Amino acid sequence: MLNQLTISALTAKLARGEVSAREATQACLDQIARVDGKIHAFISHDAADALAQAEAADQELAAGVQKPLLGVPIAVKDVLAVKDQPLNCASKILGNFTSPYDATVIEKLKAAGAIVFGRLNMDEFAMGSSTENSAFGTTRNPWDTDRIPGGSSGGSAAAVAADECIAALGSDTGGSIRQPAALCGCVGLKPTYGRVSRYGLVAFASSLDQIGPFTKDVRDAATLLGVLSGHDLRDSTSVPQPVPDYPAALTGNIKGLKLGLPKEYMVGGLDAEVKAAVDAAVKKYAELGAEIVEISLPHTDYAVATYYIIATAEASANLARFDGIRYCARVDGADPIELYSKTRGAGFGPEVKRRIILGTYVLSSGYYDAYYLRAQKVRTLIRNDFLKAFETVDAIVTPTTPTAAFKAGEKSGDPLQMYLSDIFTISCNLAGICGLSVPCGFTQNPKLPIGLQLLGKPFGEETMLKLAHAYEQSTPWHQEKAAL
Ligand code: GLN
Repeated sequence: MLNQLTISALTAKLARGEVSAREATQACLDQIARVDGKIHAFISHDAADALAQAEAADQELAAGVQKPLLGVPIAVKDVLAVKDQPLNCASKILGNFTSPYDATVIEKLKAAGAIVFGRLNMDEFAMGSSTENSAFGTTRNPWDTDRIPGGSSGGSAAAVAADECIAALGSDTGGSIRQPAALCGCVGLKPTYGRVSRYGLVAFASSLDQIGPFTKDVRDAATLLGVLSGHDLRDSTSVPQPVPDYPAALTGNIKGLKLGLPKEYMVGGLDAEVKAAVDAAVKKYAELGAEIVEISLPHTDYAVATYYIIATAEASANLARFDGIRYCARVDGADPIELYSKTRGAGFGPEVKRRIILGTYVLSSGYYDAYYLRAQKVRTLIRNDFLKAFETVDAIVTPTTPTAAFKAGEKSGDPLQMYLSDIFTISCNLAGICGLSVPCGFTQNPKLPIGLQLLGKPFGEETMLKLAHAYEQSTPWHQEKAAL
């Protein structure tokens, strides 16, 4: 079925004229019609618009135009601005807002010929790890619909795993690409901070946020990363560094590469089946010729606490703009203060309010030095741990998550438990390095995907992708599909 294809397989068929973009798009739309009632990966999608884009792609294909994603249907997390499409961040507060412009990554996708469609479900304003914090209902894991798909980009991961699109975009502030990719059994990549422009991404925590791809294999992640990356004058934190040919790095030869195994990560709280899968993956790496080196990241224990100070502080500042004046579903009040509080009281969900309150607290005078300033210092220590480790290793390997997908409702009443599900992904954002998750096995009963996390040096995506690809190609995991 066309909707099951990877980007590389589909573009090859399109180029040979064996199939049309219209057929590929229709196959995705049919799959959405068939399975999204139980998965709910999409908040909305405009089938007519997707098919119109497909017709235009078919005309270009017929004219011999060559573009890297020509005719490939790619769906988008509801946190990225797509011109004339709804933009809600899975929140009620934006009302019926539609974006007047394209995010830079969307411009790039369109310029590469992709069919950009759909609004994928997420935790409200990307705050969460299960997609249960959405104002538009929860998304379910395609492998077991009693379970969550992870979050915050749960819709993106579920849509790719359920073959409702060929690939998807998400955002990752503390794990929101890698964690759901692991729990749904697809590939998810968080680029180095500054690699991809954030222009048109609704900000959660600006010093941590990055946009990245969800794909069915590592080659597709490399292809998409190449399209998304690059300097952008509209995002001053994007870095003016040339974009490598990422797919060219996938040589299959990883002999002599040094892979660090942080001793702080293989400890308590790690599920036995997850641990066994990661141990087996490390063994596979040794067989493939990589050198495994035990390393230490001594400040790992402080990552979650540090993240929840910095991320909430930045969120409280970023979300101040949702005030009912410039945009949003306004609730009127007798004076501006009442208008703000009624609008924000009605529009934001409980987790977003919790984050704003925490963030405002840690920034307030008297507490700023004790919390925010100290967290910034610990953040530097965490980054230095990684930079030191990267003096001796080329990349780092860890589990992506401590457990496989948990049941819906299991952690939603306990924010701390929920926060701890990102324990292995958060440090990467604090350090500003790159990371990805690649499937590395399944739990047995029920059968749920397990993810292996690779962490790379700043702008070390090529080596990280090379390592992920070599592993993927020597294991069967990425070929398995959820029964839907
Ligand atoms: N789960 C983490 C949080 O709730 C990370 C979210 C993200 O990466 N956007 O903040």
